[in-house]
Amino acid sequence: MGQNTTAARPREGFSRRGFLTGRPAPAFRPLPPGISMETLSACTGCGDCVSACPQQILLVADGHVAVDFSLDECTFCGACATACPEPVFSDSPAMQHVAAISDACLARRGVTCMTCRDACPESAIRFAPRAGGPFLPVLDAGLCTGCGACIAPCPSNAIAARPREVAHA
Ligand code: SF4
Ligand code: SF4
Ligand code: SF4
Repeated sequence: MGQNTTAARPREGFSRRGFLTGRPAPAFRPLPPGISMETLSACTGCGDCVSACPQQILLVADGHVAVDFSLDECTFCGACATACPEPVFSDSPAMQHVAAISDACLARRGVTCMTCRDACPESAIRFAPRAGGPFLPVLDAGLCTGCGACIAPCPSNAIAARPREVAHA
């Protein structure tokens, strides 16, 4: 635990891409698979999971681990859970969030785009026809695993993680 102090030094902030693009820090910070808001309190912010993630999507923000899906998707490889020395990760790899599409979506603004559908490995985003405009994305929160694969490719930054219970409300 924490033997490589250089490698384990957690990245702070949220996020590199957000800083470069001017994208504001999200109000909701998604967590890696297997962490809930309850178990997050056991996170010491040591950064062992940050160093272990092959996708390099983890960082430490305000002392706790979080995911930045503007960098890449989660593959559910489990390396973060294996690396963690604290009782933070549960045996269930479920995410506590799902993706949500905002009105920044190009299709909602009259521009044809289906990038998110093509990026989703779960076929959780379908496109519904409408008269007089491009097909509109419809996200099935029941199929969404929260992997975030649709977030970075979206050309208008219209997709973000939202708490699963809110998305189902
Ligand atoms: S499951 Fe793998 S890809 Fe996903 S956050 Fe953990 S280490 Fe990264
Ligand atoms: S990728 Fe983004 S802009 Fe394109 S349809 Fe999906 S949500 Fe809309
Ligand atoms: S978060 Fe993953 S599963 Fe959910 S809609 Fe986006 S790509 Fe599909």
